[in-house]
Amino acid sequence: MGCLFCDLLEKKIPADVVYEDEHALAFRDIRPVAPTHVLVIPRKHIAAIHELADDDALAMGRVIVAARNVARKLGLEQGGYRLVVNDGDAAGQTVHHIHVHVLGGRNLSWPPG
Ligand code: AMP
Ligand code: ZN
Repeated sequence: MGCLFCDLLEKKIPADVVYEDEHALAFRDIRPVAPTHVLVIPRKHIAAIHELADDDALAMGRVIVAARNVARKLGLEQGGYRLVVNDGDAAGQTVHHIHVHVLGGRNLSWPPG
């Protein structure tokens, strides 16, 4: 089955890229829920957190470092920001290629919905 975010990595579909490195790509969410809403994905296809292999630890760590770089680049560090990873149906995961949401630019309530 095809993967939307693999297609995006291969530039088969367009993306508003804000950051990229050897291991990760970051682009703006098409349906933002905060003034800054960016998705950070590993270049390696991993479907979901519950499908992570122990050997994927480094790849995921690099995604988190990329998310930090995104927050730094977009000026979110001073005000604070949130990283979110939805896993599975109950959490509302809709794209089955791991992605970290970087949310910032407004106050974020807790607990999330
Ligand atoms: P999740 O619900 O955690 O699986 O998040 C998937 C996110 O991907 C949603 O916030 C969508 O708005 C976003 N999304 C879906 N298609 C695209 C796309 N082509 N470009 C950017 N963001 C997308
Ligand atoms: Zn994929």
